Amino acid sequence: MARILDGKAIQQQILDELKPRIARLAAARRPPGLVAVLVGDNPASQLYVSSKVKTCRELGMYSEELRLPESTSTEELLRHIEEFNQREDIDGILVQMPLPRQIDSRRVLLAIRPDKDVDGFHPFNVGQLVANAPAPRACTPAGVMELLRRSGIEVAGAEAVVVGRSDIVGKPMALLLMHAHATVTICHSRTRDLPAVCRRADILIAAMGRPAFITAEFIRPGAVVVDVGINRITDRAEAERIARGAPAKLAAFEKNGSVLVGDVHPGDVATLASAYTPVPGGVGPLTIAMLMANTVECAEKRLG
Ligand code: NDP
Repeated sequence: MARILDGKAIQQQILDELKPRIARLAAARRPPGLVAVLVGDNPASQLYVSSKVKTCRELGMYSEELRLPESTSTEELLRHIEEFNQREDIDGILVQMPLPRQIDSRRVLLAIRPDKDVDGFHPFNVGQLVANAPAPRACTPAGVMELLRRSGIEVAGAEAVVVGRSDIVGKPMALLLMHAHATVTICHSRTRDLPAVCRRADILIAAMGRPAFITAEFIRPGAVVVDVGINRITDRAEAERIARGAPAKLAAFEKNGSVLVGDVHPGDVATLASAYTPVPGGVGPLTIAMLMANTVECAEKRLG
């Protein structure tokens, strides 16, 4: 029986460890402060931002949410970022991606002060990651590393395969695994014979954005499988395919008219893996935990 890697429980551990650090900062100077900027009205982004802001408040951190209209220009957004860069009470600036098409995302990422870049996307911090030097790390891959470490999964020497090469997940994920001494293979849409490459993995990380794409033929029996994907399924035939061996998914679909699934087939992974992350409740909660950890660390650096 495969072990389920419970992201919620590990999130709680991380948050509990942050609480005394937050209390110390609040007593000595002020609580750590995070601002979340949301442009437009993408419902998924709204949900992400409100759960980040809510977690901040529950931890006793200061948090602020700036909502801007879909029509916001790059220059307007840059003006707000400059103001947050200057503000003494703000330690972390988060701009929720994706941004509307007219906004130059690269200029926006470059404008955030690297020491307030709690998402770890600024090119300076990406360079620090490549060099394995201290800096805020991208939250999702950093969360996966915490999940592996706290679950007692040996990374050093392991064959790790990362499917996906995006700037926010795949690439930083591969670098963090390499720094932790795994032998890393990065796959993408041009990879030849993806199932065969994936079957080499002791640790398989799926970050593709393709619902239940990773099926039995991709998973070596006994592998640890981490599913970063979050996909909402609204099509019944698709829900039925995914529910093979995982009837709870179909039940959720029947109840809500849609269901959340990862990039890994839930029935197949439960049969073959030694341990795996569920969706929801796997990697997602870790992303939020690492955002909180990055904000606390930035505050500790700033406030001495
Ligand atoms: P992107 O769309 O930016 O990148 C997807 C990557 O997967 C690309 O590198 C692409 O290859 C690769 N890919 C797509 N299809 C295939 C295929 N058929 N075979 C091999 N490789 C393929 O996605 P993100 O990295 O931003 O996100 C990935 C998933 O993770 C999404 O489901 C997203 O919702 C989720 N996510 C979850 C988070 C969490 O907190 N749990 C946080 C962030 C993202 P190529 O480069 O060749 O196009």
